[in-house]
Amino acid sequence: MSNYTQRVYDSLAARVPWEKEFLQAVHEVFSSIQPAVDANPAIEQYSILERMIEPERQINFRVSWVDDAGQVQVNRGFRVEFNSAIGPYKGGLRFHKSVNASILKFLGFEQVYKNALTGLWMGGGKGGSDFDPHGKSEGEVMRFCQAFMSELFRHIGPNTDVPAGDIGVGGREVGFLFGQYKRLVNEFTGVLTGKGLDFGGSLARTEATGYGLCYYTQEVLRVLMNDSFEGKIVSVSGSGNVSIFATEKAQSMGATVRVMSDSSGYIYDPDGIDLALVKKIKLVDRARISVYVDSRPNAKFVAGKRVWEVPCDIALPCATQNEISADDAQDLIKNGVKMVAEGANMPTTPEAIEAFRAAGVLYCPGKASNAGGVAVSGLEMSQDSLRLQWTFEEVDQRLQNIMTKIVSDSLAAANKHGLGNDLMNGANLAGFERVAGAMIAQGVI
Ligand code: NDP
Repeated sequence: MSNYTQRVYDSLAARVPWEKEFLQAVHEVFSSIQPAVDANPAIEQYSILERMIEPERQINFRVSWVDDAGQVQVNRGFRVEFNSAIGPYKGGLRFHKSVNASILKFLGFEQVYKNALTGLWMGGGKGGSDFDPHGKSEGEVMRFCQAFMSELFRHIGPNTDVPAGDIGVGGREVGFLFGQYKRLVNEFTGVLTGKGLDFGGSLARTEATGYGLCYYTQEVLRVLMNDSFEGKIVSVSGSGNVSIFATEKAQSMGATVRVMSDSSGYIYDPDGIDLALVKKIKLVDRARISVYVDSRPNAKFVAGKRVWEVPCDIALPCATQNEISADDAQDLIKNGVKMVAEGANMPTTPEAIEAFRAAGVLYCPGKASNAGGVAVSGLEMSQDSLRLQWTFEEVDQRLQNIMTKIVSDSLAAANKHGLGNDLMNGANLAGFERVAGAMIAQGVI
């Protein structure tokens, strides 16, 4: 980092030393962008970095709701409207007990540059609640979503801020949130993405993050290694939306996936994951991944461990932030991993990234490799504006084009700044330059 970049980072670290995840995300981007900052004096002149690390607006609110026993429960709700330089704030809602301001600021900050990489008109934001959906009845989830939207609705809109899903928020929750928004505002608009297909949703949105991750990975394999998924052993962590559809696409591209997980441990199936069974367990029964072994006699469940101890060629972390530690990275390297492509947001710790890069493992940063979800959310916004629904094939083709272009744009940015085929720095530079350019053009706001 140069004097300017370091100074801005240090002042942030002194101001919010407790916001560890947010500082980690800012540090990662700032460590990449020096060539762009050096090349454009307007960035320092107009205090672009200082403005980029400050959300344009941050909303905290109380969410009171009634559980099945008639007891009033209280949770914290958040929306971080980070940057609208290139479009309405766009980014998911996360319902998880770990949610706090630091996690949402890291996610919102990442989202700004990820959305820029898609080439669509979307700014960045993120929101959510410390509500824990595990073990809640459908009625409780619905009442929580309605209470959450009863405050959020006044801050969002189809041209202002368009939330979507994330951990703990899937199609069911988006449906409840959308219904409450419509009731309060008395308008049917594309205010949320990831909606049901009968009320403004896009075909291929459910699959988009996982499929997009595989399109990106396949393109990197083709361009940089003259290779493909065919015949590869792939490890996938998590068993939620991103994991399920990454597994589906990797399998269809000829890879073998033997492991998946949730927060209780991982399953290992030597015959390859039976994805129809995982979908039933996770999407229909909403049960724990451990029950998989009840139907698959050759499979085993390993409690309290991560999938990274199992040898693989390609690792696709698709669960949560910082899920690959330095020790996990050493296990993967020792077992011969060739590539790590992030489906989750910031799943690899800085120490693990260092270890991968030092060992020559191809590391693909989430803000590029998992951008397929928000890309198709952007396409859902386009379809809502047109009042039209495109076919699955049309959306899927556009998704493939966007993911392929993210690879070429990242490589072009890295090459332009003399960094060779560095996908991490290239992605950060490409996203940063687009947002910085728009901020400079729009004046001091
Ligand atoms: P889901 O809620 O559908 O699934 C999350 C999965 O990760 C579950 O299997 C969950 O297990 C596991 N998990 C969550 N927290 C932890 C933890 N602390 N330790 C171990 N496992 C954990 O979420 P998504 O699939 O939508 O999101 C997964 C990741 O992908 C997140 O990082 C998200 O930000 C990112 N992402 C998602 C996009 C999307 O379109 N959905 C778009 C881009 C990125 P359990 O049920 O036990 O908690």
